[in-house]
Amino acid sequence: MFVGELSQDIKTLTGVGKKTREDYENLGVHTLCDLVSMTPRGYEDRSHRICIGRQNADDGSWTNTFVRVESVSEFGPGRKNVKIIVRDTENNQKAFLMGFNRTYLSKTVFPGAFYHLYGNVTPYGTGLTASQFELKPVREDDLIVTGDLLLDQGILPVYALSGALTQKTLRRDVKAALSIVGHIDDEIPQSLIDKYRLMPLDKAFREIHFPSSDKSLKEARRALAFREVFYLQLETKRRPPVERKRHAIDSRTYAAETKFIESLPFTLTADQVKVLDEIRKDMSGPESMNRLLQGDVGSGKTLVAWVSALHAICDGAQVAFMAPTELLARQHAQVAANLFKDTGVTVAFLNGEVHGRPRQLLLDQLKAGNIDLLIGTHALFSKDVEYRNLRYVIIDEQHRFGVEQRRALLEKGIEPDVLLMTATPIPRTLALTVFGNLNVSTIRTMPKGRLPVITYLVDDSKRDKMYEAVGVEMKRGHQAYFVYPRIDDEGNSDLRDVESMYRFLSTEKYPAFRGTLIHSRLPEEEKIAILNDFAAGKLDYLVSTSVVEVGIDVPNATCMVVEHSENFGLSALHQLRGRVGRSTLQSWCFLVYEKTITEDGKKRLSVLRRTNDGFEIAEEDLKIRGPGELSGLKQSGFLHLKFADLEKDVSMMASARDEVDAILASDPGLISLDNAVIRQVLALK
Ligand code: ADP
Ligand code: MG
Repeated sequence: MFVGELSQDIKTLTGVGKKTREDYENLGVHTLCDLVSMTPRGYEDRSHRICIGRQNADDGSWTNTFVRVESVSEFGPGRKNVKIIVRDTENNQKAFLMGFNRTYLSKTVFPGAFYHLYGNVTPYGTGLTASQFELKPVREDDLIVTGDLLLDQGILPVYALSGALTQKTLRRDVKAALSIVGHIDDEIPQSLIDKYRLMPLDKAFREIHFPSSDKSLKEARRALAFREVFYLQLETKRRPPVERKRHAIDSRTYAAETKFIESLPFTLTADQVKVLDEIRKDMSGPESMNRLLQGDVGSGKTLVAWVSALHAICDGAQVAFMAPTELLARQHAQVAANLFKDTGVTVAFLNGEVHGRPRQLLLDQLKAGNIDLLIGTHALFSKDVEYRNLRYVIIDEQHRFGVEQRRALLEKGIEPDVLLMTATPIPRTLALTVFGNLNVSTIRTMPKGRLPVITYLVDDSKRDKMYEAVGVEMKRGHQAYFVYPRIDDEGNSDLRDVESMYRFLSTEKYPAFRGTLIHSRLPEEEKIAILNDFAAGKLDYLVSTSVVEVGIDVPNATCMVVEHSENFGLSALHQLRGRVGRSTLQSWCFLVYEKTITEDGKKRLSVLRRTNDGFEIAEEDLKIRGPGELSGLKQSGFLHLKFADLEKDVSMMASARDEVDAILASDPGLISLDNAVIRQVLALK
């Protein structure tokens, strides 16, 4: 069967309950297909023993050995922390394992017993310590008889996490899914599999998660990447010839538009004016517009989108505006409703949560053409949504959507004009290869009077000074964000989390200020209410996960604190930083890192200190990421590619493009036996 046919809900897996399922949904994983199609963001090589004291900082591998526990003790306030002293069974080296907030360790680890230790054991003071570690019990007999055999856990995948998910859960579930799916069929014509010597897809999916060696991991990735770019090319090239029903939009500036622009509390920047002209010109052409609008966060892209929407609406068009998250879509809808209140434009908001009569009412209005501008998430292209006259589609943060999702929305209209917006720049040549015929507009200048955000890299020793600085800003009536990678400590992670840090900040650091916490597990309505309060100045600070990452616009916020910043991609950090510096006030960004940070990690972070230019940051990000790093592409965040790497796989992409061209030229209907498989796969999409 094809991987796309694995449509069983992930809750069919043993151990996946309601809560876990929600966490998976946040990762975009709903079905077994999604789960199996996840790409690990890295791997842990546990295939050979690395004794205590032999861990090599340069290759990034961790200690992986057998130990005997000497003592276990609790310490710290509330005795929440556990210290375990262990000795390596081979070289007798001692190490201190510090389990912060891992009280359960004192009940599950016993002095005198043997364990398999996997952890980051590094010199500290005069000894060796680890705070990131795992201990698994082993029987003494096993140890003596089988020795290293037990250690051979191979190369383990490391996935992106969400909520309370842990690597353990993900590994368990992926393994379970792979064992029940049966055989995964190939999706590329056999002739190409032979020509490019591609690993069979069934094996590739298994190897990408649980590689048997570095070499086969590379081959697995190559096969999956080829399949990915092949279908990407095919989908962009294979536009069925349609009868031209396109209704071009008049290029003149309507009076309502002029009035709208004049009513804004600011004047448009030269770049905004230029881009608007480009858009109007495109829209009036015989071909539909396919334009990418790139510009740094806060450069005024969204505003351009609103003016261009008004332009299309003046011409009688319906407009759909799609945002990647519910929160963002709602914000946009609020802004739009406010902006358009005197223009006669009817704005509506649609999400997956609207059901029953209200939904039907809205859909009826939409179909009747009584709604001019519909704003929402991917709910905009749900099956039951019908437009009367959809001629313009705007997609915000376009890299967050897959090719199929974009297409699904476009299919609701008749060759609509399309504006894609992104704050993550992509070289034009690359854009052309990937999207086919695409025009690019760039906003380079920021609105007048903005001061560049001052960025500091902060280690533990400077933490208190940072809290003080943020306190001073809040005293001045400005606002702050504190961002952490996790919501709570359920997964017994070593990372600081929103809940405990909120407790700490509100009681110890800022008892006099008004703060609250916000994260993805709160009900949508509550999140909106909190953000509204924050925007209205009723709260001084927010403690959150990266839900504030995109689009949120509170000009009075001047401080952004990101902890464990080494765990975030550069472009994500840049987005976070873009939440401040949105007015004429001076703003600050504090990137806090742990002492476990690598040299490369530090180098990456210092790019953000050096520049505020999103284009430069993206380029640096590409440069710093050395070859052989699997997570490469996702960092650049531009395209929703899972396996292929825009940079490293350029020649593969060219091959795939040539093959697709050849196939479409010789067999446009895909009716040959060799191409039948393509037809079947496309039918699934
Ligand atoms: P982007 O979508 O590129 O992140 P937005 O369009 O959301 O940027 O604009 C960021 C903020 O700047 C918004 O509050 C918006 O109202 C404001 N803004 C947009 N254009 C201008 C301008 N020309 N002058 C001053 N402020 C502007
Ligand atoms: Mg935006």
